[in-house]
Amino acid sequence: MTYEYQELAEKSRKHLWNSFTQMQGYNEDLPVIIESGDGVKLRDVTGREFYDGVSSIWLNVHGHNVPELNDAITAQLGKIAHSTILGMANVPAILVAERIANLTPPGLEKVFYSDSGATSVEIAIKMAFQYWQHRGRPEKQAFVTMNNAYHGDTIGAVSVGAIDLYHKAYSKLLFQSYRVEYPYCYRCPLGEELSTCAFACLQQVEQLLEEKSSEIAGFIIEPIVQGASGIITMPHGFLARLRELCTKHDVLMICDEVATGFGRTGKMFACEYDGVSPDIMCMGKGLTGGYLPVAATVTTDEVYDAFLGSYESAKTFFHGHSFAGNQLGCAAALANFELFEKNDLVRNVALKSEHAAAKLEKFRELKHVGDIRQRGLMIGIELVRDRETKEEYEFGDKIGLIVSRRACELGMIIRPLGNVVVFMPPLASTVEELDAMIDILYEAIADITERGVRVRSEKLPYGL
Ligand SMILES: *Cc1c(COP(=O)(O)O)cnc(C)c1O
Repeated sequence: MTYEYQELAEKSRKHLWNSFTQMQGYNEDLPVIIESGDGVKLRDVTGREFYDGVSSIWLNVHGHNVPELNDAITAQLGKIAHSTILGMANVPAILVAERIANLTPPGLEKVFYSDSGATSVEIAIKMAFQYWQHRGRPEKQAFVTMNNAYHGDTIGAVSVGAIDLYHKAYSKLLFQSYRVEYPYCYRCPLGEELSTCAFACLQQVEQLLEEKSSEIAGFIIEPIVQGASGIITMPHGFLARLRELCTKHDVLMICDEVATGFGRTGKMFACEYDGVSPDIMCMGKGLTGGYLPVAATVTTDEVYDAFLGSYESAKTFFHGHSFAGNQLGCAAALANFELFEKNDLVRNVALKSEHAAAKLEKFRELKHVGDIRQRGLMIGIELVRDRETKEEYEFGDKIGLIVSRRACELGMIIRPLGNVVVFMPPLASTVEELDAMIDILYEAIADITERGVRVRSEKLPYGL
């Protein structure tokens, strides 16, 4: 251990409180402290290198230290870092808004900026809520969410969240939302089989909307892949049916593409799988290539127009964040979009994801691999105690954590969701890099679930 490492680790222990991290285990362990990164690799202060198998929590697109992105930010920095978007504009914020409107499904025209996925969701909620007031239907106040949904960690976003482990402690702080089932077909909540169910769980949605749509403002959905609940993939056609139901019952459809947007699933936006245009779309994570905190809530002219009126009418959308429309972030976003085009990235993700899928087939040999779920380069491998009965590992088994710990020892950073091992490589990973990462993933799962390999420390690593 270098002196520098020890000193930093000590300072970290004293002063740093990490996100989603049990600090007790973390502080007994030796943390990974990243100093630099290049391409798909991260390097820590001791010189160890790791593949970034989780895209620095689902957001990295082109890798790290990308000259085009670095140059765009540096060039912008030479002009100005930030000026406000309250009552005025700036050059890159306008150009990015135009690009977003062109990239998103038809009908989405107006871009409202913020700085994280959670804030983009807060904005969607307030926008939908107030939209119905302006339309003369103020009784439409409630939201529908899907079981195990994750939309970010601020109070509004948690109110439409539905992962009990993360959200239950705050229940008294939250507004109530209606919950419907997400089609988790591996463990169907209705005990049906996808081949014969004809989307039986949609009946619950239909019934709810039939009975309550007069009081429902919006329905928030993670389209095609529900991320934080364990990479749960929607069957084809399901999202289109949700769109029909929202339209039929006059409920705004809000698609949270924070995780799925910008090529992650093999389409620019996951909604494209079902040819769906939502009324409101939330985006963040990959918007700047994973470089800087820019998020956006994008909506239709219809929603936007409802907020128009005289100054005195006070129909203004009274919402804003200090750093909204940040120039450095928007400059990175523009360079990000250019790299998408130049590298034909979305098509390449689709191709590489087929390669990854073929390679992942081998994982089915492993006795404790229950389900492999994938859309594009968004991959979840659900580990089970018993494949026949789908018996789950216990929370206390920490199976996902220990496999991730093993992957770290083998040179790749990943971060699990319960018993689901998550693999989210940077979208620009080459086939060779993907192969190397998937090999580590296989070895880590096999070592822990079959070969009885012990990790050096079962205290949880780097905040896992
Ligand atoms: C990550 C995520 C968010 C929250 O984004 P932050 O930038 O972390 O606030 C919201 N929705 C989904 C679907 C996400 O995956």
